Amino acid sequence: MNNDAYWINRIDKLVESLLGTQERHTNTFLKAYKQSLTELQAYSSLLYSKYSKDGVLTLNQMYVANRYKSMEKQIASIIDTLAKEEKVFATGELKRIYKDSYVKTGAILTEGIPNLAIDFAIIPKGFIEKAITYPWSGDNFSSRLYKNKNVLIDNLRQTLTRGFVQGKSITEMSKDLKSTMDISATNSRRLLRTESMHCIASSHHDVYTKAGVEKVKFITANDSRVCDECDALNNKVFLLNESPIIPQHPNSRSLNIVYFED
Ligand SMILES: [Zn+2]
Repeated sequence: MNNDAYWINRIDKLVESLLGTQERHTNTFLKAYKQSLTELQAYSSLLYSKYSKDGVLTLNQMYVANRYKSMEKQIASIIDTLAKEEKVFATGELKRIYKDSYVKTGAILTEGIPNLAIDFAIIPKGFIEKAITYPWSGDNFSSRLYKNKNVLIDNLRQTLTRGFVQGKSITEMSKDLKSTMDISATNSRRLLRTESMHCIASSHHDVYTKAGVEKVKFITANDSRVCDECDALNNKVFLLNESPIIPQHPNSRSLNIVYFED
């Protein structure tokens, strides 16, 4: 029972597999960004075909009538659709990952702790909801998603406006739109990973609490990219309720692992 390596190995392996599944699902979801990009590129092509002169579309041309305003509306509408899809995906994914982690971590504890008579196959009411809505990083994930999408709408507007000012061709404009969307997809991938990590950590905390675990050991990922802050906490033992927040930062792989004294 007080065998550190046993717990670290089993729980870390489970986390690795949960994150692997999450990454595959995210890859599939992020195709939605490609769809939105195609729509944005088609829309800017339409603007060029209607209003450009000699392949150049100036900002002045865009200020005629309500063209600029309707462009802003069009961007917002395309990204709103994406944001709605992302919220549905992320909510489902975080619920799934919490559940999966709770049940499987519970099974690991049941196997390793003699006489632990708790059925971890049933998740108490409200646990999942709390894990995904709790503003652990100062904001909950749905308001982070919302903020990211507003930033994206603003960046796309800037990309187009800058293109008009600089007299870019439709080919250059399409490329710039792609870069802007790629950056947003990368941010989204990081956010989903960070929030997933937090759901896993919440499930750990909930399972440990239910099992009567009193202490945890903070361990860092077993690779060379460990940051100084995590490294300073590595192998330290904490009371469960005073344990460090997981994740400590985006892309952190540190964990609090159940710990028993000799
Ligand atoms: Zn770190």
